[in-house]
Amino acid sequence: MQIEQQLPPRKVWFRTYGCQMNYHDSERMMHHLSNVNFSRTEEQSEADLLVFNTCAVRDLANQKFYSHVGETKKIRHQNTKQVKIAVSGCIAQTEGKELLKKYPQIDFTFGTDVIDNIAEMVFRSFAGDDRFSINTWDKSSDYSIETKVTHNNPQAFINIMKGCDKFCSYCIVPFTRGREKSRKLLEIKKDIERLVEHSGVQEVMLLGQNVNSFGKENNERFADLIMALEDIKGLELVRYTTSHPYDVTPEMISVHKDAKKLAPHLHLPVQSGSNTVLKRMLRQYSVEHYLSLLEQLKRANPHMVITSDIIAGFPNETEQEHQETLRLLEKARFDSIFSYAFSVRRGTKAARMQDILTDDIRGKRLREIQLLQLKIQEDHRKEMSGKIYKVLVDGTSDMKGIKKWKGRTPCNRLVHFTYPSHDLDLTWHWVDVKVISSTALSCQGELVFDYGKKAPNSDHNPR
Ligand code: SF4
Repeated sequence: MQIEQQLPPRKVWFRTYGCQMNYHDSERMMHHLSNVNFSRTEEQSEADLLVFNTCAVRDLANQKFYSHVGETKKIRHQNTKQVKIAVSGCIAQTEGKELLKKYPQIDFTFGTDVIDNIAEMVFRSFAGDDRFSINTWDKSSDYSIETKVTHNNPQAFINIMKGCDKFCSYCIVPFTRGREKSRKLLEIKKDIERLVEHSGVQEVMLLGQNVNSFGKENNERFADLIMALEDIKGLELVRYTTSHPYDVTPEMISVHKDAKKLAPHLHLPVQSGSNTVLKRMLRQYSVEHYLSLLEQLKRANPHMVITSDIIAGFPNETEQEHQETLRLLEKARFDSIFSYAFSVRRGTKAARMQDILTDDIRGKRLREIQLLQLKIQEDHRKEMSGKIYKVLVDGTSDMKGIKKWKGRTPCNRLVHFTYPSHDLDLTWHWVDVKVISSTALSCQGELVFDYGKKAPNSDHNPR
């Protein structure tokens, strides 16, 4: 690219909000920027370019972004050097032009489908172009990319598809990420083979808003993709997120029995335990169907760990409907949940519903959901006591003044453990840890075996 020679060394600072997809997008942008002489900084004050990669899904992330971007007005005034401020992601996709009007310090905004053009946009802005907003959609029929990793660790996020066709009544994603488009199975396999061979990747997380509908336009199936990754030598663990219960097929359930590298964990958002609320949410499945999927998954792999999402206080949710959600939690006994109070997303069907619920009622229901779930989680964690789990160590934590290593089991449970010697750096080592005690949120354990940075060969489903 011509631009490479023309830009002097500069620093970029990122703030990313929301889901893993957004964090992956930031990494992708960083890769493109490093090609044009940018390096990353964690210090906002030394950056030449600030990028806010936004999320429109949760109200909290929205509010945080508006507050953070408001603060950049000061930076503009204090700084003598040329600093550019860019906003990307879901809010930029739907409100890019409004953001430029409201915040004069923003130089440019760009949506989710043009992140691969960031270098050109940065060049335009530093060259003195007027402030601009780009939120065009990629109109090509093919979705083809190469995964970019800028880190030096064995985990990589792999976008396998983008967009969503589901239009759940509360969700803004189909408006911010567009319609579903999948990459080709073979392209993804080659991409992962390259990362395993040349970047030391051992664990991949396959990403999409609804991965179960992967490949529809190409006559390919998600289950076949998972099985195709089985023969990549050096790839240890495959995770995926997110799934929609309507699209969980019998083949998908079977791969949880057959695929040796597939993590025994499934994040399967249910959102509500009430059939009438699910209908208003346009979720296309019933509570009974959802519970039967859980049963089939457990039959396919008894080690399966299921996590979920719950929305408290969907518009006009009755006390009875709320109680039905509590009953579902008792039946499903999720390993953990993301739960949040409903908040309106402009432009969605739910935003047009007349709603009689107050914030107080939503808050109370959310607390009841979380309290019950914490008790369930405590029971699950207690059952882990005395068992040995394989863990990929991703760092340390300070627990009441004691340094502990931490990592996740293949079934996605957080484990902290001690190791007598402080000299050895265990980051990105595969270890066996015996769980000794637990709380609702994590487990404490001790090191049993250190395999080093090379994963142990598994001839069985990893725990
Ligand atoms: S399936 Fe998920 S991403 Fe798609 S509209 Fe529903 S909640 Fe949003």
